[in-house]
Amino acid sequence: MNAARQRQRITVLGATGSIGMSTLDVVARHRDRFEVFAMSGHRQLDRLLELCIRFAPQIAVTADAAGATRLRADLRAAGCATEVLSGPQALIDIANHAEVDCVMAAIVGAAGLQPTLAAAAAGKRLLLANKEALVMAGELFMAEVRRGGALLLPIDSEHNAVFQSLPHGYSGDIARSGVRRIILTASGGPFRQMPLGELARVTPEQACAHPNWVMGRKISVDSATMMNKGLEVIEAHWLFNVAAEQVEVVIHPQSVIHSLVDYVDGSVLAQLGNPDMRTPIAHALAWPERLDAGVRSLDLFEVAQLSFERPDSLRFPCLELAYRALRAGGTASTVLNAANEEAVSAFLDRRLGFTRIADVISASLDTIASTAARTLGDVLEADARARSVSRSLISRWMEEMV
Ligand code: NAD
Ligand code: MG
Repeated sequence: MNAARQRQRITVLGATGSIGMSTLDVVARHRDRFEVFAMSGHRQLDRLLELCIRFAPQIAVTADAAGATRLRADLRAAGCATEVLSGPQALIDIANHAEVDCVMAAIVGAAGLQPTLAAAAAGKRLLLANKEALVMAGELFMAEVRRGGALLLPIDSEHNAVFQSLPHGYSGDIARSGVRRIILTASGGPFRQMPLGELARVTPEQACAHPNWVMGRKISVDSATMMNKGLEVIEAHWLFNVAAEQVEVVIHPQSVIHSLVDYVDGSVLAQLGNPDMRTPIAHALAWPERLDAGVRSLDLFEVAQLSFERPDSLRFPCLELAYRALRAGGTASTVLNAANEEAVSAFLDRRLGFTRIADVISASLDTIASTAARTLGDVLEADARARSVSRSLISRWMEEMV
């Protein structure tokens, strides 16, 4: 950051989403420390307009030129001087802009990959919510972080909890840090106790009604299938340099313990708190300092009990599929992510049954052999291939929906 300038300048990619809005909530509490340089929103133009009026960023980015024209006119009418750009290159331009110190990567899915990579390559303080970027291109992503000298801070509540529970200055050498394993907690989502026979007929509304967290629709479905936890196992592998066997998943329905680190001396360190994404966001914005996130203190008397269960592989086959992709290496995780995105989107559009999501992913992994995933070209090619394979599987299984 420029020494003459006290406030950190932030780009919020995906400002109109659940993580984007929580980020702006924390930023609004600390205007003396942060200013919003740029923000992006895809199609929710009314919300993007409101945010521009409230935070007066220099640049706002929309999905396409038509959206930009509309936003520009609305901003002019509101007397707001924000410049409006559109499209994928504009997302990259606000992510690696020379005037930006910090980037919140909160676009959902593969669409977030390239701007997030650009922020890494430009050496930004990079707050990573977009786990799909790391799942689809982990090797490339971590290489860009090292090459660009970025400071990568995890926003996913589990990884933020692990980051807080690892030794300060953890170098990526798990054995030398005395860490035995990482334990990721999972709520188990809305279908943890539903009779298995009923799962095939659940609706998008049921899947999006998460018991503990309010989130975007895609990650809500991922939580219901537990693919979210599978993606997080892969995310932990890349962030903390741990093997698949060193990452364990435990269902913890209260969502109070956000994750744990098990050390060789028998110590287990955990981070606890109310389930509110403003906590990891504020942590990453201020690290190594602490900021008031607007989150109330955890009331242990109110929590009263913490419980733990082993995930059931019949109920949650997606979790095992993610371990399988991680063990296979190369583009297998890219395929897993793309097939999952296609299947979840079809489920949300009522074109695919809930239990078919895992079938689409499994069949895509069976069909596409894993190859090296070192370059952006490798990753985009595998992503496109997996989308084409999974789309044809989806159209085959779509008939079941009528
Ligand atoms: P969301 O659906 O609420 O918001 C997504 C954002 O991305 C929106 O601003 C939308 O406009 C933008 N977007 C969507 N498609 C786009 C495209 N094709 N191009 C450009 N922008 C696009 O999602 P969310 O819940 O905020 O999640 C965002 C990311 O954070 C996801 O990767 C998710 O896995 C991760 N995450 C979310 C939570 C949570 O509590 N919500 C927790 C951990 C991690
Ligand atoms: Mg999470």
